[in-house]
Amino acid sequence: MIYYDNAATTSLLPEVRDAMIDTIDQYYGNPSSIHRPGREARVLIEEARKQIAHQFNITPAELFFMSSATEAIATVLNSCLRDLTIKNIITSKLEHPAVSRNLALLQKVHHFNIHYVAHDAYGHISMEDLEQQTMQHPEALVVLMHANNETGTLLPLKKVKNICTNAGALFLCDTVQTIGKFFINLDEGPDFATCSAHKLYGPKGVGFLYKRNNIDIKPLIEGGKQERTMRSGTENIYGITGMKTAIEIACKDNETVNKQISSLRTGLINGLTFIIPEARIIGSTQHTLGNIINMAFPLDIAGDMLQQRLDMNGVAVSGGSACSSGTNEKSDVAKALGVRDNEINIRFSLGRLNTAEELDRFLEIFAKTIAK
Ligand code: PLP
Repeated sequence: MIYYDNAATTSLLPEVRDAMIDTIDQYYGNPSSIHRPGREARVLIEEARKQIAHQFNITPAELFFMSSATEAIATVLNSCLRDLTIKNIITSKLEHPAVSRNLALLQKVHHFNIHYVAHDAYGHISMEDLEQQTMQHPEALVVLMHANNETGTLLPLKKVKNICTNAGALFLCDTVQTIGKFFINLDEGPDFATCSAHKLYGPKGVGFLYKRNNIDIKPLIEGGKQERTMRSGTENIYGITGMKTAIEIACKDNETVNKQISSLRTGLINGLTFIIPEARIIGSTQHTLGNIINMAFPLDIAGDMLQQRLDMNGVAVSGGSACSSGTNEKSDVAKALGVRDNEINIRFSLGRLNTAEELDRFLEIFAKTIAK
């Protein structure tokens, strides 16, 4: 199988698997217990917290382990509306469903206004519009993703941070697609950020929330007061160990991996446009994460059900976000960025395990798949 769906999820790196198995073999205590097995598990978690915090230039106290980035996002949205009584949320029409669908759900419970920031045809968020909107609603929560999961288009993090700081707004940045791809100094960045370990060769079902120290939000669910009361539920010690190892590896060699991916990206785009000259990139070509390439192809050339036909020929790609893959319905992002009715768009997302040899094979398969 040629796996070009690394933005949906990634496989476990062997080092991550080994670290998790060692933890499974050696640790069984409940980190909240005061006896030795419990204390050993506690030390493991706190060491992981320290190491991860160090990679992002934050303090361990600002990091909370959670089951997913979705949970981290829901925690912030719920608490900001419930505890900080935020009345205005400034976001975009290009956010992940973890943001957009949670906001829709919360509108049934809380009274608040959602303001959408303008974006251009490439998915660049308008800084001028953001500035105006934050000036109009200074006590808002701004929710914008760092890199779009369908197109890879990047947000200028520092500019957004400055705009929010100047206006006095809080800033939640969904950093799921960028964590581990390059160095992010969270201390100079958003007030809240998120990570999902399975996007960077770690295990599924574990992530973290970064929350700036001086902001007092409350948990989404109550219980045994784990994670300094921010996230009840016995800690997933195997997942946390796996995430720590995955982050360590990603942060160590991301420059090498990015170079390798950048050359594959060029080859992929050139190859696809050679086969279908009418193909066009959806999203930014200048401010982009690099590993995500979203291409729109004319339906009469590429044919319907392209994703499924590629799958049958041994290539895993996505038509949009993981949630909407498996259907041929255009995603909200594809619609917002102008993918036409007579086009079909496919997301190719590359990863550290993809090779140049595989790219040649992929292009042959692609040409055969569309010719059928
Ligand atoms: N945000 C973005 C940008 C994503 O790509 C994803 C995963 O698809 C999520 C949030 C949700 O992450 P998780 O799978 O940890 O809930």
